[in-house]
Amino acid sequence: MRKENKMLEILSNTNRMAIEINTENVLKLLELNILPIYITKQVMKRQKIRMIRENKKMPENGRVIIGKEEFVIEINSKKCIGKANRRYLIAHEVAHTMLYEIEKWPPRNMIVKISERKYEETICDYLARKILIPEETLKREIIKEVREHTTYEKIKKIANKYCVPWSQIVIKLVEDMRYIKKIIMIAGKKSDNDGWRVKWHAMPKMEGIYIPIGRRIGDKYYGPKIKGVIKEIIEKVKDGKEESIKEEIEIERIKDRYMSSIKAYKKNRKEKTLRLEVSKEIINKQIVIGEKEEKIMIAIEI
Ligand SMILES: [Zn+2]
Repeated sequence: MRKENKMLEILSNTNRMAIEINTENVLKLLELNILPIYITKQVMKRQKIRMIRENKKMPENGRVIIGKEEFVIEINSKKCIGKANRRYLIAHEVAHTMLYEIEKWPPRNMIVKISERKYEETICDYLARKILIPEETLKREIIKEVREHTTYEKIKKIANKYCVPWSQIVIKLVEDMRYIKKIIMIAGKKSDNDGWRVKWHAMPKMEGIYIPIGRRIGDKYYGPKIKGVIKEIIEKVKDGKEESIKEEIEIERIKDRYMSSIKAYKKNRKEKTLRLEVSKEIINKQIVIGEKEEKIMIAIEI
């Protein structure tokens, strides 16, 4: 079963106090609806969080310590680059506290099954987006425009308003809400010797098309190489004058795994083509902190 489906199943199966509803109740109860949403003192009180502190020497991004009577949240100060990142790290840890029944102390984790614990991080990422990016406000203010023409500039503008990393806005729209039925991909290239690689992607969970997963070695992510027709289009945008390019490509042309790192299957698909949009605007903007390379955003309508 796919990780995301499993996660949603766990969320709906937790019958004592549905975790997701709990998160929404916290937001409603505390009337957190002015953007950007802050983890206020009331939230901390409600979740029995005594303090949030930074720690320079910790291997993970953050952690929740179960104290004598309350939680203590620690976040890795090395990962707190920029306000948006910091806020997201904190929200993720607050989400961890929402997985506990806190009426009695020590608190009990609501995810009972050990086998389901491995989904906890995915669940907390999902809940962190619920906390910082409420769907209602997101739906209200955008988004037809973003849906039709998904560009980095537009996404960034929304992200600034919510004060969250832009990638979380994309994941929210594409994966959580399934509002944008596109694969959004960042392709990067370090040097001429290195080919274009998938650096990051968000995609709705649908059968028929997918990108093979890259490998993470240490802190670095080695995405699959982009070949064939998609590579040709990227090069065209990169070398050309246009800011973006839209093209229809036949599924047949990217179906073969030797042609492209994106695999598309005709199974269950009526359409014979995919609409691909490559925009140049993201070139040279840093996405992964500390890594400088050419980058480009690709949207594939599916
Ligand atoms: Zn976590």
